[in-house]
Amino acid sequence: MREELIIDKIEQEKEEYIEFFRKLVQSDSINPPGNEKNVALIIDDFLKAIGVKTEIFSFGNNRANLVAYLNDSFDGRNLLYNGHMDTVPPGSEEDWKYSPLSALIKRNKLMFGRGTTDMKGGLAAMVIALKILKELKMEVAGNLILNAVADEETGGKFGTGWCVDNPLKEIKCDFAIIGEATGLNPLPKAILVGEKGHLQIKITTNGISGHSGMPAMSKNAIYMMSEIIEKLDKLEKYIPKTKPPIELDKLKRLVGVSFPSEEIFERIMKEQPDLDSVLQSLTSFSKALTMIKGGIKVNVIPDSCEAVLDVRLLPEQKSEPILMALKKLIEEDVGYVVKDQSNDTSSQIFVELQVITDSEGSYWSEWEESSDLKEFYELVEMVYEKKPFYFLLPASADAHFLRNKGYCPQTILFGPGRGRTAHAADEFIEILDFIRAIKVYAIFAYRFLTKK
Ligand SMILES: [Zn+2]
Repeated sequence: MREELIIDKIEQEKEEYIEFFRKLVQSDSINPPGNEKNVALIIDDFLKAIGVKTEIFSFGNNRANLVAYLNDSFDGRNLLYNGHMDTVPPGSEEDWKYSPLSALIKRNKLMFGRGTTDMKGGLAAMVIALKILKELKMEVAGNLILNAVADEETGGKFGTGWCVDNPLKEIKCDFAIIGEATGLNPLPKAILVGEKGHLQIKITTNGISGHSGMPAMSKNAIYMMSEIIEKLDKLEKYIPKTKPPIELDKLKRLVGVSFPSEEIFERIMKEQPDLDSVLQSLTSFSKALTMIKGGIKVNVIPDSCEAVLDVRLLPEQKSEPILMALKKLIEEDVGYVVKDQSNDTSSQIFVELQVITDSEGSYWSEWEESSDLKEFYELVEMVYEKKPFYFLLPASADAHFLRNKGYCPQTILFGPGRGRTAHAADEFIEILDFIRAIKVYAIFAYRFLTKK
């Protein structure tokens, strides 16, 4: 059987795959500033050596996106594999047991390094899946498209966002997988069908500075901010109700599927308060004030104070109504003018709102009807020897660029690694998880592309 050829090849070439993965981790693509071209060139070499057609799209200073194709025909079913090449900064190296770019392997089991989980493991596994199909000269009726992108960790506009509007634009996409880590230990693997949105608003209060010995002659911007903060909990009353895409009870049932019994599931839920808070966060809007800055001197009344409100949106919630609600709250409940294009502020006392991050959420609303997804689920169960579960991402990723605006709503997130270790010191991945992901990506692509 053809699929056995895939499994045999993976078992034989394991060491080569691990070496390739290590090279990706060792090449610096810390974002900011990015330098994703370092990674793109390694992938390019690896694929060109076996005759895969690749294209590198350079931009900025040593940054790039890459697209590679199994063949030249796009008339059949097209499967898209997407993974980001950039990583978040490692933070203080002193917090790391092993150097963040070492890709050090311990006991043949774990690989340590920045990006092992988020997400050079998933990316390497996708590249390797393409190589396997190419080398085995599998007879297929469709095409596998690999899209390695920049900029995911800083919003994705120049990465997946750009690719969807440019090299991918004319290619009809029938199914897409983003290889982000979807392990939520102690649970089995998750298959994610939605992601939350992320909105960050900088609030600036503008007052009148003056001598601190005569406070009545000025307007203290820090006091203004404190009045706003005090009322912030009323924000929800101005926000139109949005239903979560999956209600809490159903979400619990979906997770419960991967447990041998309901009792075991209930016990794990009790022992893992984290899981309960994840479930809560997936079914509700949340907000947090995360930064505040004000004042220039100990004896001067400050005329400016800045704070950042970090908002996590439900997958189908838009950012515009949130901004409107905040404006309304500041104008009606607190009583300050919010300056925008619609009003002139001759007054020196006003508030400004500035969006610093606006990443839409997204959700594949028809996932339950998809036979492709059902087959993917069964394949994951076979390879990982445990039932996976359908879930939503409590953070935001690149899926909204693919799902929204109708490019490819049938996008899922699935990949090796545990979400918890992403962005943390001593980030690591299990080698077995990485090898299994290669199997899933390669066999799924084969099945998808040979399906009549
Ligand atoms: Zn990621």
